Amino acid sequence: EGVASKNAEAALSGQMKWISRAGERRRPVFALIEATTKRIEKTSLLTGFPLASHSSQCEGDTNSLLQACIYALIGSAQITSGSKLGIGESLLVKAIGESTGRSLAVVKADLKKEGDLGLVAMNSKNSQKTLFKPKPLTVPFVFTNLKEIALSSGHSSQNKKVSIITKLLAACQGSEAKYIVRSLEGKLRIGNAERTVLVALAHASVLAEQEAANKRLNKEKLAARLEQAASILKSVYSELPTYDLVIPALLEVGVDKLPERCKLTPGVPLKPMLAKPTKAIGEVLDKFEDKRFTCEYKYDGERAQVHKLEDGTIAVFSRNSEDMSKKYPDLMEQLPKCVKEDTKTFVFDAEAVAIDKDTGKLMPFQELSRRKRKDVKVEDIQVRVCLFAFDLLYLNGEPLLHKDFVERRQMLHEHFQPVPGEFSFATASDCETIDEIQAFLEESVKDGCEGLMVKMLEGEHSFYEPSRRTVNWLKLKKDYLAGIGDSLDLVVVGGYYGKGKRTNVYGAFLLACYDADAEEYQTICKIGTGFSEEALQAHYEALKPLEMTKVRGDVKVGGAKPDVWFEPKIVWEVLTADLSLSPIYTAAQGLADDRGISLRFPRFIRIRDDKAANDATGPEQIAEMYERQVLAQSKGGKKKKGG
Ligand code: ATP
Repeated sequence: EGVASKNAEAALSGQMKWISRAGERRRPVFALIEATTKRIEKTSLLTGFPLASHSSQCEGDTNSLLQACIYALIGSAQITSGSKLGIGESLLVKAIGESTGRSLAVVKADLKKEGDLGLVAMNSKNSQKTLFKPKPLTVPFVFTNLKEIALSSGHSSQNKKVSIITKLLAACQGSEAKYIVRSLEGKLRIGNAERTVLVALAHASVLAEQEAANKRLNKEKLAARLEQAASILKSVYSELPTYDLVIPALLEVGVDKLPERCKLTPGVPLKPMLAKPTKAIGEVLDKFEDKRFTCEYKYDGERAQVHKLEDGTIAVFSRNSEDMSKKYPDLMEQLPKCVKEDTKTFVFDAEAVAIDKDTGKLMPFQELSRRKRKDVKVEDIQVRVCLFAFDLLYLNGEPLLHKDFVERRQMLHEHFQPVPGEFSFATASDCETIDEIQAFLEESVKDGCEGLMVKMLEGEHSFYEPSRRTVNWLKLKKDYLAGIGDSLDLVVVGGYYGKGKRTNVYGAFLLACYDADAEEYQTICKIGTGFSEEALQAHYEALKPLEMTKVRGDVKVGGAKPDVWFEPKIVWEVLTADLSLSPIYTAAQGLADDRGISLRFPRFIRIRDDKAANDATGPEQIAEMYERQVLAQSKGGKKKKGG
């Protein structure tokens, strides 16, 4: 802790060169980052780490070193933009056993005690007597091996992976094995949100720039400069979310010129813009005041971002930036027909919706979810899909994010053409009054949609803001009007064995929300009613492989006591009629109250396989929902205390 705060000060006053040279053993930067919960200290420690790769004492070119450092720091499953890590427990147990000469049974028993494979690996290594000190681990060595593991596939890949992991572990000392094993699992767990890594990268770039120019700004000027650089980098990365392109450009032109160099590029999916829920039609008018807005049908399907690259390739990406071209071979065939001749490159935002083959009517999301996700052949497709385009983000070499929506919409309509049952523009109406919105909402529901999306038409509030959830896009679902409120996306972290007929499956589940700042899952409720026997069987099959020997360290459990723990991976959409304060669950603790918030009578809606665990609903949104409910109840004169 002492070292960390001294470094924070040093970084802010611009005097720090680096904290830990890549590969240096005495002060492992990951351990320092893990040891502090203070954001500012984390940022300065992180700042020091990329700076280390500017050091001439490291082998390898600066660009690839810096990229390796950043991927290592994010410590998510991602290793290079195209491939992922996420090695299962049993393979890692085997590798730890092999590299430390311990039996599988002993490693497993340790895991039961510790609940963290990283700790097990570290303890196993440290209790092992070695004759020779291994050579220091370097970032390039670790990264090359991690990449090799991520890229190996096929039948013999398991043995290959075990042997690479064994080699890596053999070279570890101190706490290194802990972080290597956690990286292999796909979760570093040092409380390192990707946002913070971006800020640190911007800071590192400014500090390196100053060092090169032998300049030193005073404290205030430096703080302002660091903030400006962080905001530039965050905005650039939201448009072009790939370190493979942003880092070389940053090194070449510096942070100020980065926006000219790194722009939205077809082929690199950007994080979609999101919407805030509204409870009443009146709220729409309050939020938009005298500004022009439009209402669009809110289709009940799956988000699809469609790109056409310079070389003519068309690609469809999911909400999660996954390439869905293999899931939708039919869309790939349909798409060229909707593109007009003068349209060479583009990115548009759309919803893929299941439609009835015979009547052309829209079908609910459940129909779409019946489609296979992999190895889909056009001739086997039962559920047909129509694409409803609602925004144009890039056209013929030009990003359009900073154009007014009204202009983007016009360009979309000019450069694409509807094809019945295959491609269409989102049905829209530029409503002005509550009555008009109400009538349009009813029409949308009659036509098989979830409700409306209300969007600002003009001015900077109508720009497309990747990954942001602001009031510039509002969602008005029919459910809200019935007083049901918005649904939540929650991660399944535990299971309770069933009773009676259900003893062979889990009969109930423990759910959690995700706090992106603290990087932790917070328990929120137990859900166990309303599942059919078939559904329980299917959930059992999906969750059984995720069972863990002990709860993972990033789950804030509170008083919940499920029979088994799961690796947090599967996301469910859940509705609730009521939220209450809870002494048991930990969701949003300290936000609305010292106690956590829990869902009463939660109802399962669907599996959200287009969302990753870290896309789950956050504690702020839960606290906001709770506060709104308290307010509504007090207005209604029946203020109710939570139980
Ligand atoms: P999140 O807000 O976390 O994305 P969600 O995925 O459940 O939650 P909602 O917030 O309910 O989605 O609504 C936004 C989603 O609605 C978009 O991600 C998109 O998939 C879908 N959608 C349907 N029609 C439209 C439209 N006309 N404009 C924008 N989005 C639309």
